[in-house]
Amino acid sequence: MANLIQRTDVAIIGAGPVGLFAVFECGMLEMRCHVFDALDMAGGQCAALYPEKPIYDIPAHPRIGAGELIDRLVEQAAPFDPVYHLGAAVAGLDQSADGFVVETASGDRVAARAVVIAAGAGAFGPNRPPLAGIEAYEGKSVFYLVRRREDFRDQRVVIAGGGDSAVDWAISLADVAERVMVVHRRPRFRAAPQSAAQLQRLADSGRIDLVIPYQLHAIEGEAGRLSAVIVADLAGTTRRLDADCLLPFFGLATDLGPLAEWGLALDHHRIAVDPATAATSRAGIFAIGDISAYPGKLKLILSGFAEAAMAAHAIHPLVHPGEALHFEYSTTKGVPGRG
Ligand SMILES: Cc1cc2nc3c(=O)[nH]c(=O)nc-3n(C[C@H](O)[C@H](O)[C@H](O)COP(=O)(O)OP(=O)(O)OC[C@H]3O[C@@H](n4cnc5c(N)ncnc54)[C@H](O)[C@@H]3O)c2cc1C
Repeated sequence: MANLIQRTDVAIIGAGPVGLFAVFECGMLEMRCHVFDALDMAGGQCAALYPEKPIYDIPAHPRIGAGELIDRLVEQAAPFDPVYHLGAAVAGLDQSADGFVVETASGDRVAARAVVIAAGAGAFGPNRPPLAGIEAYEGKSVFYLVRRREDFRDQRVVIAGGGDSAVDWAISLADVAERVMVVHRRPRFRAAPQSAAQLQRLADSGRIDLVIPYQLHAIEGEAGRLSAVIVADLAGTTRRLDADCLLPFFGLATDLGPLAEWGLALDHHRIAVDPATAATSRAGIFAIGDISAYPGKLKLILSGFAEAAMAAHAIHPLVHPGEALHFEYSTTKGVPGRG
């Protein structure tokens, strides 16, 4: 049976940087928010994929760690008391007399006047390598993302993949891990040229083992604790790598999931919006951040921030019908509890 319904002004799907900033922008216009994320933490890609990397193109922050950016966005949204539903994938959306009802996979239901989709690349899911029994190791010794570099101190780590994540984490973990082995099925890496060159330098100096061209073949261990990763070359010859952890970086599945069934106009697996308002093809539903598409769209955090402000202004008449919205600077208006 569906759980008791809660009510809010705006339901935000996705607690990535852009969804978090939308809480602030809505709050400044007197609109309360509930925020949903399939992950059990806020922060989207910044928290899940690169929390310890510095970002250089956030205005007024010449350099800020991705994790720190998220902490600050959460802090900035806090005065508006958002209700977070974490570990809660949104599975359904129904139209109601005065808006929408958003339903999570576990049956929580929230009624809202408007919906903001800030779902990034859709419900996050790693591309799993097809290794028998891998589920038993996931979260114990097989990880699809690195939350803390320190977790890998003095570990023998096998990294699989040939893209930016594989190469960047190999370089980063080489400082803390006992041994880093990078398995890739091609001799060349698809990473940024500077990173690929740095990887090669670390390999030449013996700090990283490049296991190429090989691919993952099997894993060995007990009770979720890995003892070895078996790799095979193109001829099928296998090799055993003694290891404590496996990090497969084969990208994220970019599946819109249930969002694709909501009758929204799409543009190459993203949601087509009016760039002036972030409105989708369905009245009352807005899309911002990486998931939105319009001519000239840049998939950058700073673009998402501006889209959040535009969406909040466009939503205001839905939540406060008949009330004139006078544009005000934050310096004039202030923020609750912050003077
Ligand atoms: C390695 C790397 C480095 C980057 N460096 C930069 C940089 O230097 N500068 C920059 O501007 N950008 C950078 N980016 C891109 C930046 O991270 C994204 O543009 C940004 O995260 C988009 O924010 P978002 O809030 O739109 O989406 P996301 O961060 O993707 O967050 C979306 C959230 O929505 C949730 N979600 C999706 N579907 C559902 C659902 N059905 N129910 C509940 N929750 C759902 C997901 O779990 C996710 O947490 C980088 C990205 C990567 C991977």
